[in-house]
Amino acid sequence: MQKLFRQIPSLDLLLKKPQAVELCQKFAYSTVAEQARLLINQARQFIAQHQALPSFISEEKAFFCILEGNLQALSNVKIRTVFNLTGTVLHTNLGRGLWSEKTIEAATNAMRHHIALEFDIDEGKRSHRDNYISELLQTLTGAEAACIVNNNAAAVLLMLATFAQGKEVIVSRGELVEIGGAFRIPDIMCQAGCKLVEVGTTNRTHLADYRNAITENTAFLMKVHTSNYHIEGFTSSVSEEALVALGKAFNLPVVTDLGSGSLTNMQALNLPNEPLVQQKVAAGVDLVSFSGDKLLGGPQAGIIVGSKTMIQQLQQHPLKRVLRCDKVILSALEATLRHYLFPEKLPEALPTLNLLTQSLEELQNKAERLKNALNKRLNADYILQIEPSHAQIGSGALPTERLPSVAVTISAEKQRDLLALEKQFKAYPSPIIGRIAQGKMWLDVRSVAQFERLIEMLGNHKTKP
Ligand SMILES: *Cc1c(COP(=O)(O)O)cnc(C)c1O
Repeated sequence: MQKLFRQIPSLDLLLKKPQAVELCQKFAYSTVAEQARLLINQARQFIAQHQALPSFISEEKAFFCILEGNLQALSNVKIRTVFNLTGTVLHTNLGRGLWSEKTIEAATNAMRHHIALEFDIDEGKRSHRDNYISELLQTLTGAEAACIVNNNAAAVLLMLATFAQGKEVIVSRGELVEIGGAFRIPDIMCQAGCKLVEVGTTNRTHLADYRNAITENTAFLMKVHTSNYHIEGFTSSVSEEALVALGKAFNLPVVTDLGSGSLTNMQALNLPNEPLVQQKVAAGVDLVSFSGDKLLGGPQAGIIVGSKTMIQQLQQHPLKRVLRCDKVILSALEATLRHYLFPEKLPEALPTLNLLTQSLEELQNKAERLKNALNKRLNADYILQIEPSHAQIGSGALPTERLPSVAVTISAEKQRDLLALEKQFKAYPSPIIGRIAQGKMWLDVRSVAQFERLIEMLGNHKTKP
């Protein structure tokens, strides 16, 4: 065995070889040395276990091949791109929506160049980073001002912390939502140091319930959009208009957490109705919060619009500094919002709306092309079919409303083959993510962006599960 150990070349010797010198130029000397040392250690362990020389020591070429592979793996970004065929268009686990080309351009501009983020070029003096977007949102929503934070959860926290710390907030029992990822209204209230006052019942809450709960310690009346569930049957809730009137009588602000919200009429696009931000503003709500990366179709952000004096107070709260957005997100959000100045062009411009408004005919066509491409890749154990499917918007938007869609389904005699298929799909350069239901793999074509790239990948990548 000692003889075998002695055949392992020294690190010094290896690093002087021309292949190593080349790798040091491409990567970095210290990293190459460290990775080479790890390989040498592996060789020692191999000898101790097997009493034989590993092939990557007996063949010098193999050693440098593995070394280069390991160095390359270190420099490759691990967050992989995937093809979303889950049927959920805004899939939070897959990064929600894609950005418009203009949005991507604005974001990369902000990355490459200095930008006048907090600088008024005309006046030649300091300004505020939310100013550009605030002006745009005034036009789009009719609100007096806006404040932008990291996401809508942050928006809710900031509103509560600024106006309700140590005070009471009145919310209907029917609206105490939990959004995926442990965002729960009662917990966020606790974090913001305020007391939740629940009124009404799960199915019915009346104006008098709010009125009876008002004390001298009430900070505001709050509405939370029940984004991800729907209560049916004997129900009743209080409209923003009625709450605003009550608030006025008691000199209390009304705040709405809209969740997804929308700036354009979804029904005009043949999509399920989603409350409009501008409607809430028009109803007199003092602060409305919504997400940048749900139906809006932009980057992750929390947007608060409303009364100028209240927005100013939000801007001055120390938490705003903690929750503020960076230049890339603000540039991207501005670019996304500008699309809303041209409403008829929205489905063309914003990838999320583009996917959601595809006709069944387009989807059928895509499904056929996908089926053909897959047919060439799968062996005879698999049966491919085109079937009607139900897609959804996702991210908590209207979960009870399903969008008609088309899927390629793949079934196999044995469950084992289906698992092998799933594994195979994960092995593609950009893994294909579908869903398994009713003993089949469903590939819903409504949610897949970059469809041509998917077909191309299936054409190029020669593996047969
Ligand atoms: C989605 C949602 C949130 C959280 O928004 P994020 O942007 O995901 O942080 C909060 N409230 C409601 C009602 C929501 O639908």
